[in-house]
Amino acid sequence: MNRDSLYLGGRWVPANSGATIPVENPATEEIIAHVPAGNAEDVERAVTAATAAFDDWSRTPMAERGAMLGKLHEALASRADEIARTVGLELGTPLKVAKAVQAGLPLAVLRGYADLAANPAPEETIGHSLIAREPAGVVGAITPWNYPLHQVVAKVAAALAAGCTVVLKPSELTPLVAYLLFDAADEAGLPDGVLNLVTGTGAEVGAAIAGHPGIDMVSFTGSTATGRAISHAAADRIARVSLELGGKSANIILADADLTKAVKVGVGNAFLNSGQTCTAWTRMLVHRDLYDSAVSLAADAAAAYTTGDPFDSGTRMGPLVSAAQRERVQGFISRAGARMVAGDAGIPEKGYFVAPTVFADVDPGSELAQEEIFGPVLSIIAFDDDEDAVRIANNSRYGLAGGVWGTPDRALAVARRLRTGAVDVNGASFNPVAPFGGYKQSGIGRELGVHGLAEFQQTKAIQR
Ligand code: NAD
Repeated sequence: MNRDSLYLGGRWVPANSGATIPVENPATEEIIAHVPAGNAEDVERAVTAATAAFDDWSRTPMAERGAMLGKLHEALASRADEIARTVGLELGTPLKVAKAVQAGLPLAVLRGYADLAANPAPEETIGHSLIAREPAGVVGAITPWNYPLHQVVAKVAAALAAGCTVVLKPSELTPLVAYLLFDAADEAGLPDGVLNLVTGTGAEVGAAIAGHPGIDMVSFTGSTATGRAISHAAADRIARVSLELGGKSANIILADADLTKAVKVGVGNAFLNSGQTCTAWTRMLVHRDLYDSAVSLAADAAAAYTTGDPFDSGTRMGPLVSAAQRERVQGFISRAGARMVAGDAGIPEKGYFVAPTVFADVDPGSELAQEEIFGPVLSIIAFDDDEDAVRIANNSRYGLAGGVWGTPDRALAVARRLRTGAVDVNGASFNPVAPFGGYKQSGIGRELGVHGLAEFQQTKAIQR
């Protein structure tokens, strides 16, 4: 699986330094590949290539860009099994989820942007002004490891549809699946320099992208701490920034909810991808009358999880991404100061596993309820009435997602009051063309669908 090149200006080329980064399989602790450790000079070459390509690509009619994205989709779709397998190996997502989410979601998003661009909306007019939508410029995209292809595609597909050119730095923990996108781009015949890949660390390559004067916009997904550093770097040149950051989402189970379904779906949501999901409903808020039943249902659901080899068809939960992540999560568990009702169960000896863990009687102001843990740890909290539920849910510096369960009108009324970028009522499914992003320290801007496209566009008023 070794990869020894960067993709710059439409060609596979060696990295400047010749150094490499190992990629580990977190289920076996084995090194499965090496990728180039890029540096600031590689970023320089990538920005030069993306800048050279911008003029032609930005003036290519949107419908033609859409047709090119269609070819890219076709080339990527032919690699769907390889995508799932690769994410299974470098991240440890169980194969079934890897197929449905890690491969299925980015393919759906790419198809959506190909179709959106192939049928551009008519230009808007306001009075005697024509409102032109133009590409934001050369984009630096920096992505994390938890949905490693989806997060890349959410940026790249929207940016390319808008007419931007892109320099991508995927996470150094899961860089392999990004290579499959570049194999597909090469095969699809994407014009040289439109999409460039520089692998490497955040400190070297990420920081060089964020601070580069030739990057007009930085589109980042990752931790709030890194988002803050990127904002600082971009502020000096007033570069546009979009940030998709952390979360601590609440799943509110109102007094008139279907409790069994709400807990079942809620636990599944919290533990998806070993809890390494930015939108994970990590706080389960339950009306006091239903509280004891909810705790026992959640504990049973967690205990029923099979944790182990991601490639075993019976596995429901894989490992965490790295030893460092496991240590971080274990730290939160050891300091919890709440009643553990599930956890500490048998897990494989090798690999970075953490047992599905549920805490009851969690203090809403405690570290457990306030910090993003990014592991399979669910906190259950009681509330007295709808007002109290809203207050506890909004008592967070994050505001990414959430769930509400109850009779539809009442649940919708509560959903409207949550200070978050998304809320699912009664388990409604994820919508890949609805805007995705956060309030408060969960981020700035929106991805996916037409809102995601607009992030990569400038608007120009032409008075006639
Ligand atoms: P991270 O912030 O450590 O890393 C994300 C990316 O930024 C990586 O590619 C990394 O190499 C790079 N990076 C690190 N330091 C940098 C710097 N100083 N300058 C530029 N780039 C730098 O985050 P992570 O650990 O990879 O991902 C986990 C976090 O991402 C969680 O907090 C999670 O909530 C968040 N996340 C948010 C969303 C969302 O859409 N809101 C989605 C997924 C993950």
